[in-house]
Amino acid sequence: MARYTQSSCRICRRENLKMYLKGDRCYTDKCAIERRPYPPGQHGQGRVKFSGYGVQLREKQKVKRMYGLLESQFRGVFHRAAAAKGKTGERLLQELELRLDNVVFRMGFADTRNESRQLVRHGHFLVNGRRVNIPSFRTKPGDAIEVHDKAKKMVRIAEAIETVDRRGIPQWLEVDKKALKGTVKAVPNREDLTMPIQEQLIVELYSK
Ligand code: SF4
Repeated sequence: MARYTQSSCRICRRENLKMYLKGDRCYTDKCAIERRPYPPGQHGQGRVKFSGYGVQLREKQKVKRMYGLLESQFRGVFHRAAAAKGKTGERLLQELELRLDNVVFRMGFADTRNESRQLVRHGHFLVNGRRVNIPSFRTKPGDAIEVHDKAKKMVRIAEAIETVDRRGIPQWLEVDKKALKGTVKAVPNREDLTMPIQEQLIVELYSK
């Protein structure tokens, strides 16, 4: 399957936003955006002026990369959000947040979304007692997510859950760190999503 292969730090620098894509390293002074807070590439330090379209495009790229999706996947999520009731922008963010790979990351069972995607693909998680290995699986309120018995001794998961407090677990999730299980309590509200995202720009971009 196609995947994004460039350096994660380039993504943060391109979007001028600390996206925490590399786990531990993001919390050290090795963080690339702290050391070089300008876009990557030869003209990175030059003056850049975006058109209206450029601003919308950058916002879409930022969110797409934050959640680690390819264009076709992201567009698919957008179309689902547009077809649902409510504000499309808010629905888009909710759809992204409720993906199983994101929920596993938010619960603290993985350090990054890339890692959580890999753990899910390898079948290390159960949803309501059944093994699910599809990262895009859409969770819903009431779903119980649990680390599979065979994965409970994995060092990666143990280390991730130990350090989750530095980023915090959102209120719409409940986690029992000892038992390595958690529950989706509710669909996240817009206020629960604290990353600086202007979802309206993405709606405008795709509505052209
Ligand atoms: Fe982004 Fe810094 Fe983490 Fe690299 S180390 S992914 S620049 S937050």
